[in-house]
Amino acid sequence: MSQPIYLIGARGCGKTTVGEALSRALGYAFRDTDHHLQLSTQRSVAQIVADEGWDGFRARETASLKAVTAPATVIATGGGMVLAEHNRRFMREHGQVIWLSAPSHILAQRLESQPEAAQRPTLTGRPIAEEMGDILRQRAHLYRDAAHHEVNAMQSPERVVDDILQQLSLARA
Ligand code: ADP
Ligand code: MG
Repeated sequence: MSQPIYLIGARGCGKTTVGEALSRALGYAFRDTDHHLQLSTQRSVAQIVADEGWDGFRARETASLKAVTAPATVIATGGGMVLAEHNRRFMREHGQVIWLSAPSHILAQRLESQPEAAQRPTLTGRPIAEEMGDILRQRAHLYRDAAHHEVNAMQSPERVVDDILQQLSLARA
């Protein structure tokens, strides 16, 4: 089986970190829909939203999802990719979908300890822990709905990778 593997979950759950490690373990390519979006538009998320609104951003996000989908590829998706039903269906139909699940206070801690340059302003200007709590309450059922497997993202990245390999009955390359 060399279907793409999609990693979903809120910001900070480890999609990039775990995705890179998983791709090395499998000898797969690694792609990140947020990177693809920024490279293909030469703009940041904030700029795209300012220019085209959230609807424009979401349409470009869907295009990025399709563009990076290929066999033997691990794909880290943007935190909001699951909001659109057509994105959830596309991922489920084209590959295996893994939800990296962690509570909001852990996500907030990780995001707050990132260097300033990697941080993004919160969507609402409220404290990040509060905002992550709201986001998880709003999206948990969508992540659950989209995912074939839910994996505990509070473990070390290596253990998260091992859990994913076990869930998918895949061996290290
Ligand atoms: P995402 O791509 O889902 O937003 P990242 O992979 O960028 O998440 O991780 C966000 C932050 O959390 C980074 O600073 C990263 O080093 C850290 N991190 C990611 N996964 C783990 C983990 N399993 N345990 C501890 N820290 C982690
Ligand atoms: Mg990421």
